[in-house]
Amino acid sequence: MIPTWVALAYLAAAICFILALKGLSSPRTARRGNLIGVVGAAVALVVVFFEGDLDHLVPILVAIGVGTVAGVVAARQVQMTQMPQLVALFNGVGGGAAALVAMLELHELAPLGDRAEGFALAATAFTIVIGSISFSGSLVTFAKLQELITTRPVIFRGLPIAFGGSLLVAVALAVLVVVEPAIGWGILLALLGLAIGVLLVLPVGGADVPIVISLLNAFTGLSVAAGGYVLDNTLLLVAGTLVGASGTFLTKLMATAMGRSLLNTLFGALKGGSTLGASVMSDRPVRSAGPQDVAILLGYAQRVIIVPGYGLAVAQAQHTLRELVDLLSSRGVDVDYAIHPVAGRMPGHMNVLLAEAQVPYEQLKEMDDINGEFKQADVVLVVGANDVVNPAARSTPGAPIYGMPILHADHAKQVVFMKRSMRPGFAGIENELLFDPKTSLLFGDAKDSMSKLLNAVKAL
Ligand code: NDP
Repeated sequence: MIPTWVALAYLAAAICFILALKGLSSPRTARRGNLIGVVGAAVALVVVFFEGDLDHLVPILVAIGVGTVAGVVAARQVQMTQMPQLVALFNGVGGGAAALVAMLELHELAPLGDRAEGFALAATAFTIVIGSISFSGSLVTFAKLQELITTRPVIFRGLPIAFGGSLLVAVALAVLVVVEPAIGWGILLALLGLAIGVLLVLPVGGADVPIVISLLNAFTGLSVAAGGYVLDNTLLLVAGTLVGASGTFLTKLMATAMGRSLLNTLFGALKGGSTLGASVMSDRPVRSAGPQDVAILLGYAQRVIIVPGYGLAVAQAQHTLRELVDLLSSRGVDVDYAIHPVAGRMPGHMNVLLAEAQVPYEQLKEMDDINGEFKQADVVLVVGANDVVNPAARSTPGAPIYGMPILHADHAKQVVFMKRSMRPGFAGIENELLFDPKTSLLFGDAKDSMSKLLNAVKAL
């Protein structure tokens, strides 16, 4: 039995986690939600520290010190655009830690032989394999997002057999862990889990990586919850279940937003075709325009829609963009921002970026709300976005983004892209809209181009 004060502290921490999740569901309350979550985690840490029978105090303190320094340095130094990679890494180490803890538990349970509780052994096996999958899978998503390896689906002959076979062997090993507990089975299970994680994520194309990050997040939550059962720790069980459940919902929501089933996201590339496209730069002719030309287009427009994307975040042009939109609005132009659910590199990226520039929420229109309005738009200004307006999602079966709902920028009367080159977006495929006769390209870093455009509009 745990002491009452510990149970109460765990309850308080669990309530903090639930309130944190609630807060994180809206940009307005996200910061507060995050802080509440931090308080819950701090309470949990302190309670475990004082309640537990700590045998190895020095290594524990060293590990806490190393973890704290690594976390603080990473969080302070990371660019906003690299946040998903950081989240993937943090998620991976969470799964890895759960797997390691479960292996230590197996080490203690194994000598009990038949006297070890079967369900506890099953939960241990589950934690080891799912935690390991989450660890290696997250490292591969990190490598994809950081572009250390290709963002395109990686498939090879025999991959389905290797994947299916690994799953079957993992189930067999998990059964062995339960009926004949031995640490050796646990180690083999962990190694197999690492291999499954890699095989699971390699065939996923760049544009689908966000869904997989969310899925692996759910995996980490489930393995931590099972770890909570193994360690007889209620808080771990509650926290893991919360992460598992919210990760599962987020995965489902993102898959729906991208017009995909989860199976198609994970294994679509194996059916062939979805490796279509080339990440090389196109040399087909396009119409380029200068800041003055675009300023004139905007000056004569009644209705303008801004499509922000990843490049806006890279260039940090959000403040200048807001100035431009304010100026146009003050001259009677009707301007809105069209927000695609996966624009940028993390869910809600554009909302966060534009909130930072104090753009009023009312000006941010969700994809479904604004898609019908592109037809009336005189000009669509695409600032550092590409995949989220790529008509290949509608017209090219087999393209990595085929089936993903896009912003209907191509329905507008004029389209202006602000980008630096003819490089493709994250999915690595050409965008036909760049070559459309009604499209102009204002080449250059979005911040620099935006400043020039702002001055040109002021001078009209
Ligand atoms: P894309 O990656 O499709 O396109 C970004 C564009 O920005 C490129 O065309 C690039 O062209 C341009 N760009 C980059 N830097 C600059 C700069 N400094 N100034 C001007 N332009 C710049 O971004 P989208 O937002 O359209 O789409 C997001 C993609 O990322 C989708 O495929 C999505 O699936 C994926 N993704 C989304 C995640 C999420 O959760 N939101 C997570 C992971 C991936 P150039 O280099 O020529 O300048």
